[in-house]
Amino acid sequence: MSTEPESLTRNVLPGILGIQAYSPGMPIDELQRRLGLADVIKLASNENPLGASPRVRDALTLSVGHGNLALYPDGSGFRLKQKLAAYHDIEPSRITLGNGSNDLLEFLSRIYAGPGRAVMFSDFAFAVYPLAAQAQHAQSVIVPAYPADHAMAYGHDLEAFARTLAGRGDVSLVFIANPNNPTGTWITPQQILAFLEQVPPQVIVALDEAYWDYQDPALRTDARPWLERFPNLVITRTFSKIYGIASLRAGYALSHATVADLLNRVRQPFNNNNLALVAAEAALDDQEFVRRSIQLNTAERERLAESLRQRGLKVLPSQANFLTVGFGRDAAPIHQGLLERGVIVRPMGSYGLPQFLRVTLGTTAQNDRFLQALDQSLST
Ligand SMILES: *Cc1c(COP(=O)(O)O)cnc(C)c1O
Repeated sequence: MSTEPESLTRNVLPGILGIQAYSPGMPIDELQRRLGLADVIKLASNENPLGASPRVRDALTLSVGHGNLALYPDGSGFRLKQKLAAYHDIEPSRITLGNGSNDLLEFLSRIYAGPGRAVMFSDFAFAVYPLAAQAQHAQSVIVPAYPADHAMAYGHDLEAFARTLAGRGDVSLVFIANPNNPTGTWITPQQILAFLEQVPPQVIVALDEAYWDYQDPALRTDARPWLERFPNLVITRTFSKIYGIASLRAGYALSHATVADLLNRVRQPFNNNNLALVAAEAALDDQEFVRRSIQLNTAERERLAESLRQRGLKVLPSQANFLTVGFGRDAAPIHQGLLERGVIVRPMGSYGLPQFLRVTLGTTAQNDRFLQALDQSLST
């Protein structure tokens, strides 16, 4: 007997029906299957081209070798939290672990957003923010970003955040990405501080710092000391980007202990699997690997941005591990041309930037291959 689709959607909550599923970067095997290509590179999901620290591999091998796959992981993540507490010089009670930092963004939404409440974020911000709001049937308040001709084109305008917030009393949660994905743009410490000073204490400000390590130290904001002064501030970080373990899913939040306690109430008892915990501990221990990753990224960011600008393309200012490139025309054919040459990058149409593509910075050889494929795609 076939099921009437209507009966399956009749009782679906309206927020859920409105959701457009997140569209991830294309996996390498998918392109291999689709086009019968053998040699494919993926520069589409801001992963670390150096992979992970060799220490991560060793720790994982050891852990699997111990044969503890049948046991539940440590649901409190005790050891990882101890390491993070030492690394950030913060009490473990202020740390919450997530299955990726995505988990924590959703927890915040689950705790603070809902019908009659609003979640505020910038235009051209991370795609997960509207999803997190909609899943809770909360309204999304999208703050206009800086215009295309601004020095920080399409970046977060925190003065506009403050004005919008002052004009409405229903906002309970604010998402700020610094640096932002998909633009790569960043905000100064002065801008963030000035904004925090205007936010009512019951409004939670989630500062999403997935790309923090990639920033030039002179441009970075260290928001950690502000946690004392602003109990409503929540900082999220991830092991998916610079630490190179996106496949395992580990992230965390630094917050007031009260918020950490609330976050703990809504998470699954075992939201971090054991291998993710083990890998994150080992990753955190190898700061030399982090330095190498930063070095490569900074050098390639400058080199690739310059090469793209020489081709007359618009490159948004980036302090992340990707560049968002404007072509002044629909970028879909260029995206297709790159795919046909085995190079996966991210189209930006779903972000409202159909003339742009986002390319993750790879190794020097990968970036050269991207440039070559780009030149070929542009000339056909
Ligand atoms: C990649 C990314 C994250 C991290 O996602 P994980 O769930 O930790 O893998 C968070 N925020 C932004 C803006 C990102 O680009």
